[in-house]
Amino acid sequence: MSASRHPALSATDPELASFVAAEETLQAETLRLIPSENYVSAAVLEASGTVLQNKYSEGYPGRRYYEGQQNIDRVEALAVERAKGLFGVDHANVQPYSGSPANLAVYLAFAKPGDTVMGMALPMGGHLTHGWGVSATGSWFRGVQYGVQPGTGLIDYDAVRDQALAERPKIIFCGGTALPRTIDFAAFASIAEEAGSVLVADVAHIAGLIAGGAHPSPAGHVDVISTTTHKTLRGPRGAMLMCREEHAKAIDKAVFPGLQGGPHNQTTAGIAVALHEAAQPAFVSYAHAVVANAKALAQALLERGFDLVSGGTDNHLILIDLTGKDVPGKVAAKALDRAGIVVNYNTVPFDTRKPFDPSGIRIGTPSLTSRGLGVDHMPRVADWIARAVDAAAKGDEQALSVIRAEVADIMAAFPAPGLPLS
Ligand SMILES: *Cc1c(COP(=O)(O)O)cnc(C)c1O
Repeated sequence: MSASRHPALSATDPELASFVAAEETLQAETLRLIPSENYVSAAVLEASGTVLQNKYSEGYPGRRYYEGQQNIDRVEALAVERAKGLFGVDHANVQPYSGSPANLAVYLAFAKPGDTVMGMALPMGGHLTHGWGVSATGSWFRGVQYGVQPGTGLIDYDAVRDQALAERPKIIFCGGTALPRTIDFAAFASIAEEAGSVLVADVAHIAGLIAGGAHPSPAGHVDVISTTTHKTLRGPRGAMLMCREEHAKAIDKAVFPGLQGGPHNQTTAGIAVALHEAAQPAFVSYAHAVVANAKALAQALLERGFDLVSGGTDNHLILIDLTGKDVPGKVAAKALDRAGIVVNYNTVPFDTRKPFDPSGIRIGTPSLTSRGLGVDHMPRVADWIARAVDAAAKGDEQALSVIRAEVADIMAAFPAPGLPLS
């Protein structure tokens, strides 16, 4: 089916081309609810697949270690200017290969091995790279972790302040990967100032919401903003570090030559296009629609008896706690997958089960909103989830395939950006 769409690939490597075509079909027919995923536009896809990838460009625009950079410099400078404009920052580095290396560059810029660093615990919604034990950041640095309160599922800022003042970490990370609520950057800023810490806002998940004005911005509150470009921001897989002028040199030096070699110029081009798209009025509507859909979906799930961490959502993400159901997270996630609804199993705060077999599932609305689903569709989505979890409890495979057909039928009416029309 993809021969006309990827003619050279199909001719050279039909086996690989068939995998890509199958993935296109999968992404078209399923309801993708993983909150860190999205559909990039055809323009972002095109920019990311260009001959820019043939160039080595170690260094920065105007200061390269290789010749022939006249076009590459313009591409990177454009991406940088767009990032600065969109996020209202002094400085942007668009070279980090992805979110994890971006965060590692922050450690390199501001800490020495063995220093204390502070972040949200992974099982509470933080990211591995915020000093969690199994990550390099938790073994090379002394990671101390904060969490959320047991009853509310919310951050207790007074407790974070007490811990920061006791530990005096070099770096404090705020933000995370399973946080359904607004992050109070001003509160973190006052804590970091008192503790003498560098404050990093890792907005990987919510960068698109910030760009579209649907979540408060950390700009002006924090020392460094770290973000991936491929989640709500709807760009290619990559990352950016943004900061005040005073930290610009340290950040640039840490990314190159500290941590990386040549930047992925084709990705830089895709990032530039995504930033251009995110600066359009349509993206403001998109970001607000993502949040409206998530709130509507959370409400519909609550009405169907689901328990949600923190009782709902302020952003694009919902964490369903299945502790009270007969189905643990992994079983539910796999059943939903068979029903054409793609989610991930996830720990919930104070989970009584193991990380590889936890009690929760994590869902979000960035992808379905990119396809044009609106708040009126959310009760149906909640119905599908409820029926699939129920079917998982009963081992009813027939019910799952019925849902899968219904999902494919509805999704056919909402073509995804960047995918072929079937
Ligand atoms: C996704 C994510 C990252 C890591 O990004 P990768 O590109 O997967 O390395 C870092 N921090 C947070 C908060 C994230 O959600």
